[in-house]
Amino acid sequence: MHYHTLLFDVDDTLLDFKAAEDQALKRLFHDMGVPLTPAIKQAYQTMNQNFWREYELGQLTRQELLDTRFHKFFSQYDKVVDGPAVEECYRKYLNEGHDLYEDSLAVIKQLALDYDLYVVTNGVGVTQRQRLRESGLAPYFKAIFISEELGVNKPMKEFFTKVFAAIPNFSKNETVIIGDSLTSDIKGGINAGIDTIWLNPQQAPATEINPTYQIQHLAQLPKLLSQTV
Ligand SMILES: [Mg+2]
Repeated sequence: MHYHTLLFDVDDTLLDFKAAEDQALKRLFHDMGVPLTPAIKQAYQTMNQNFWREYELGQLTRQELLDTRFHKFFSQYDKVVDGPAVEECYRKYLNEGHDLYEDSLAVIKQLALDYDLYVVTNGVGVTQRQRLRESGLAPYFKAIFISEELGVNKPMKEFFTKVFAAIPNFSKNETVIIGDSLTSDIKGGINAGIDTIWLNPQQAPATEINPTYQIQHLAQLPKLLSQTV
């Protein structure tokens, strides 16, 4: 067993963000009187992903993103809305979504016996802490590192510098990050000089961002980790 410290992404790695987002959007759009058709939902998700990409690139602050995304989105439907107020409502609904992937809790419970587990997530502190608590995952992690609270986000090197500084007896050689996103988790791990495990359920093709290992399902993780030397 080579690694001692495991850094876990949350959304679409341990928790099903799409399920949480789906139920929150459904409730929000119902409140707004806009029917959430598949086309409208797709349009929202495309716009939202572009916003988060700009955030990852440091072109937009998290606050700017949250304050403006619904105002911009609903203006396309001739609705003038108070961006921050709608965001607050959406956030409340989103906080209530904590659908675990089938294997998450069992895998995390098992790994917590042999490794030190930490959460590394881009997101809003209150949201992520509530979802981790209500999903039952929180007790298995030694600490939860959230971009909002650190003031920097994955994949920035500074995010990882802060995380490493906060972990007792930290060693880069004995640390690996596990996540579904090449652009934030894997690129971030590479930038920070640690090994990376890409959770790639759809078996997406390789890119220029090269993870150390790849798995298709979280359930493959304990065996992979036990085999690393
Ligand atoms: Mg993720």
